[in-house]
Amino acid sequence: MNLDPIVQLSRNFGSNPDYVLAGGGNTSQKEGDFIAIKASGVQLGTIDAAGFVRLSLSKLTALFNIELPSNSDEREKIVLEKMLAARLPGQTMRPSVETLLHALFPFRFVVHLHPALINGLLCSREALSAAQALFGSEAAVLPYITPGYTLADAVRRIFETRTLSGQSPYKILFLQNHGVFVAADTAEEIKALYDHIFATLKAKVNALPAEDKVAESVSAEEKVLRSKVHTAVEACSTKFNVRFFFTLNSLLNRFLASPEAFLPLSAPFTPDHIVYAGAWPLFVTQHQAQTSEHLEVQINAHHARHGELPKVLAVQGVGIFGLGKDIAAAERACLLFTDAAKIAWYAQSFGGVHSMESPDIEFIRNWEVEKYRSSIASKNNIAASKQ
Ligand SMILES: [Zn+2]
Repeated sequence: MNLDPIVQLSRNFGSNPDYVLAGGGNTSQKEGDFIAIKASGVQLGTIDAAGFVRLSLSKLTALFNIELPSNSDEREKIVLEKMLAARLPGQTMRPSVETLLHALFPFRFVVHLHPALINGLLCSREALSAAQALFGSEAAVLPYITPGYTLADAVRRIFETRTLSGQSPYKILFLQNHGVFVAADTAEEIKALYDHIFATLKAKVNALPAEDKVAESVSAEEKVLRSKVHTAVEACSTKFNVRFFFTLNSLLNRFLASPEAFLPLSAPFTPDHIVYAGAWPLFVTQHQAQTSEHLEVQINAHHARHGELPKVLAVQGVGIFGLGKDIAAAERACLLFTDAAKIAWYAQSFGGVHSMESPDIEFIRNWEVEKYRSSIASKNNIAASKQ
């Protein structure tokens, strides 16, 4: 199978930060009984044919006809084994957990992404009703379901109902607190569908606040305070053996104005945000971050409450510090948290934010597959930065 079309399509979307961040998304191409899907941990923006895993479509869809255990851990284990067994001979990379969803679309190309603009709708209180109102019967809209077999099976049923009703198959599938799947037989149509979704949403939301050089407009006193905070974070990063990365922009600045302003960002929007920016950011006042001793108390309290160090430390009026085992991970935490801020901003146009529910958050935190993916992504980034 010639993968040039999907490689081009993946790079096109993957190199545009409006569509793809570190969390990625995934793409696939079908031909006859074959499907090639982006492997776990590979970056869309720089992917080549070797970044795709090739599988048998009929072996994948056969999964829907076998008896599976009702226990979700056992079920997902079997599904993963069967998915790996559906790979063509010689294929060693791991297919995305979303492979089954790709297999269900009766179209040559599928591009699944988590763009902030689209998630502004899908992580809002009015997600389900607004998506329906804006896109009507051309799109399917699903409430949040744990990624993996359960989600794929729910989508399979929706697609079946659609077919029985005599309507043409869905080319757009919106998933609450997750992202969108777009499918078509040509690359041009995929792009046109994304353009259509973006144009429809842009007409509904307020543009992001313009950069107003927040960092340069502060007083001398404020600068001293900020440098104290940076010194405290640096000392704590040594103490807790993590690296840090600082980010501030006009958008984040609005959410950092007060504990109340920060509320929309206090819980995660999608599984990717949990994996890369942590489920729970730690918000502290400047007073709580003015010395390393003060800050250590806050970090220890966070650890006691959530069983892990924060991946994002948000300091009121100062900025956010991504924390990670290396600089790449720390920077990625900032990137994903900035993405969350965009989502919260756009969600204002749809009744405000709708974060993930606690049981779903816990499920993702414990999810072995996601841990695997985040560790691979981090290895890939280190490899890339050494070249
Ligand atoms: Zn996804």
